[in-house]
Amino acid sequence: MSGGKGAKVVPLLRRPCPVCGKAPVTEYRPFCSKRCADVDLGNWLDGGYRIPTNDVPDDFDPEGGSAED
Ligand SMILES: [Zn+2]
Repeated sequence: MSGGKGAKVVPLLRRPCPVCGKAPVTEYRPFCSKRCADVDLGNWLDGGYRIPTNDVPDDFDPEGGSAED
């Protein structure tokens, strides 16, 4: 048998904080802190990840667009 060198165990669950890349804290997984959790949540609420709706944008022109006059 050869020496057991290089047998490095890398935990699969050890992912960095998706916001800042620091090591996550169990309490706020997968984030490193409440602040980063809030930042991610803020992205959702702020439209960073916009949910498609049936609402028509204000600048939408149902007539077909190029109204040059
Ligand atoms: Zn973080």
